[in-house]
Amino acid sequence: MEAILITGGAGFIGSHLVDNLLARGEKVVVVDDFNDYYSPKIKWKNIEQALKNHNFHLEQGDIRDFPFLERVFKRYPIKCVVHLAARAGVRPSVEDPILYEEVNGVGTTNLLELARRFEVPKFVYGSSSSVYGYTDQVPFKEDACADQPVSPYAATKRANELMCHAYHHLFGLKVVCLRFFTVYGPRQRPEMAIHKFTRLIDEGKEIPVYGDGSSKRDYTYIDDIIQGVVAAIDKDFDYEIFNLGESQVTDLLTLIRLIEENLGKPAKIKFLPFQAGDVPITYADISKAKKILGYNPQVPIEEGIKRFISWYKKEARDI
Ligand code: NAD
Repeated sequence: MEAILITGGAGFIGSHLVDNLLARGEKVVVVDDFNDYYSPKIKWKNIEQALKNHNFHLEQGDIRDFPFLERVFKRYPIKCVVHLAARAGVRPSVEDPILYEEVNGVGTTNLLELARRFEVPKFVYGSSSSVYGYTDQVPFKEDACADQPVSPYAATKRANELMCHAYHHLFGLKVVCLRFFTVYGPRQRPEMAIHKFTRLIDEGKEIPVYGDGSSKRDYTYIDDIIQGVVAAIDKDFDYEIFNLGESQVTDLLTLIRLIEENLGKPAKIKFLPFQAGDVPITYADISKAKKILGYNPQVPIEEGIKRFISWYKKEARDI
């Protein structure tokens, strides 16, 4: 059976995709290096169930390592690459742009090149809302990206979309780039705001709020993102970019209130200066994804935070 290769499959979004694809009987190969950007223990836990499935194959290694990746492509016939491995996170990219360029840039080109050489029929790339940078043209439309990223992370994500396009143009590689808007839910990365704030509030510690709390995000529940990714795997496109968001914006203070309500504990907020690399708003126009991809987000922020906190209490408190 031909496999779906998921890079970064032990991470937050990747491990949910793994579970979804295994559940429908797919053969899944994961490439992940279990680096310590956050605790590798969490990543092993993410794939605990998958490791018991005979259709699941783990290849531990680094996407910067071309010979390693080449061995993986030789070992398994692959029908689709879903490329999610990356250094994620805006602020650390400001501290270490070279690492971001190496992992996100070179790592992605390695995968595109191997997809070309091994004639993989389809490549799905996990891009980001950060590609839009600062813009007052809200909600963001796919074709209105000004190419003015404001962090090294965002620059690598946009550059990868462009490299995908070059591979499509030159070699006919079929590519779908999915721009994820702040994803949350069970297994969310521990340094992302919802998870970090929940833990700090739960432990009675101060939470850092950069700016005055009015910054807005389009928070997208993990199940909705997975529905969009699976649709991108299943449908046939030449080269397309889709926003995957909820198309609902929530400001930071409202988000904190929702976490407080669901945890039943008050937040102690420490206001700090706005951080370089951050943007004041993300807001997805999802009409293209709805129409062409059949994307259909279902979980509003109130329900999603409820589900997240319930997972946190049951499974993440003691990690
Ligand atoms: P994550 O950090 O949980 O997952 C990424 C995985 O990639 C990790 O398991 C990590 O070990 C692996 N990885 C990193 N560098 C690697 C390397 N050099 N070689 C092999 N594996 C490597 O992050 P996530 O939140 O699941 O994000 C997945 C993708 O979605 C990323 O590409 C990210 O840029 C993108 N994205 C995420 C969000 C979000 O809100 N979570 C928003 C926009 C875009």
